[in-house]
Amino acid sequence: MGRRKKIVQECERLMDRPENIRNIAIAAHIDHGKTTLTDNLLAGAGMISEDLAGEQLAMDTEEDEQERGITIDAANVSMTHEWEGTNHLINLIDTPGHVDFGGDVTRAMRAVDGALVVVDAVEGTMPQTETVLRQALREGVKPALFINKVDRLINELQEGPEEMQQRLQGVIRDVNELIRGMAEEKYEEENWRVTVEDGTVAFGSALYNWAVSLPSMQATGIDFGDIIDYNRRGEEGINELKEQSPLSDVVLDMVAEHFPDPLEAQPERIPTVWRGDSESDLATMMQEVDKDGDVVFMVTDIGMDPHAGEIATGRVFSGTLERGQDLHVSGTAGTNRIQSVGIFMGGEREEVERVPAGNIASVTGMRDAIAGSTASSVEMTPFESIEHISEPVITKS
Ligand code: GDP
Repeated sequence: MGRRKKIVQECERLMDRPENIRNIAIAAHIDHGKTTLTDNLLAGAGMISEDLAGEQLAMDTEEDEQERGITIDAANVSMTHEWEGTNHLINLIDTPGHVDFGGDVTRAMRAVDGALVVVDAVEGTMPQTETVLRQALREGVKPALFINKVDRLINELQEGPEEMQQRLQGVIRDVNELIRGMAEEKYEEENWRVTVEDGTVAFGSALYNWAVSLPSMQATGIDFGDIIDYNRRGEEGINELKEQSPLSDVVLDMVAEHFPDPLEAQPERIPTVWRGDSESDLATMMQEVDKDGDVVFMVTDIGMDPHAGEIATGRVFSGTLERGQDLHVSGTAGTNRIQSVGIFMGGEREEVERVPAGNIASVTGMRDAIAGSTASSVEMTPFESIEHISEPVITKS
């Protein structure tokens, strides 16, 4: 059996274990390294060749995106990652990095429970960092921080360990100020601040494929001085650093440890995004991530697949999606029949038999669905309409 096939099978096994699932988005200002980071996470999880990571831009699937050099359509991937001896299924939704696509960012946020905020260490927080963070927090999505391009502090700015730490602390402080300003209650009461000590901050270089966090530094013994030494030694040193402290392990450990699984997340998120009867059976099914319950599928994105045609991607909040099901689509009179059910792997869609509650799924046959539709096996109050947040700034950084 090929490696890819094995990964698909493992994903299918893990889909039934909500406690081992993390649904996340990467949110960043344009050019801060979201695509490079995503490619490296995929390479680390064995989804694409490590040599190609950073070059092949797995997430930028649309030709249009390649041409414009920006990510405009939310693409999705699933990967597995072992954390504390247990394999986890990480469903990752890409979010557009450009301010024109604010509505798409919000939709992606609705499907996930954690947002990995990526900030360029040299540029610091930028207007789009603020926008994506606001969209995440408004949807009840928990943030963690990855400070990228730390190699530039060493190689270009020639900073020493203390200067580097000060700069990184400055970025962390800025991000926390944004979080506190936008979600004070969560920040104060649920400790949604990001800190090195809690392990909710990691930093490194997506381009050179290394990263560190406090837990990783404690495990490997690598400190700031070592990081500078490795980088100054050129290619050989960097290769050693990425072997000792690979980006995908450090970042995915942080994801597995600090982002809520669907069982933890859905009871909090359903009242935030759904205004239906909170006493109803359906509310209970969604809050309990009941895979045997009625099907509730929130469509966050409509994409085109060269083979399968139009594909509706979104979050399964309750029930299990299977081929042949007839689903009501909010805002339309009839039902649509599901033709196929799949997940995304490295930008390509893989058909699977079924996708249970708590996961991100992609289905064909939903011809009446649009991004934002609620598709369900019983007629129901649709999810809250998604608010488009736009900012006045539209210039590229
Ligand atoms: P996105 O717009 O957020 O998806 O950013 P990309 O991943 O496309 O990266 C933008 C640019 O920054 C590209 O030229 C990358 O090669 C570069 N880049 C990404 N990560 C790093 C990094 O860790 N260090 C350095 N020096 N450059 C990086």
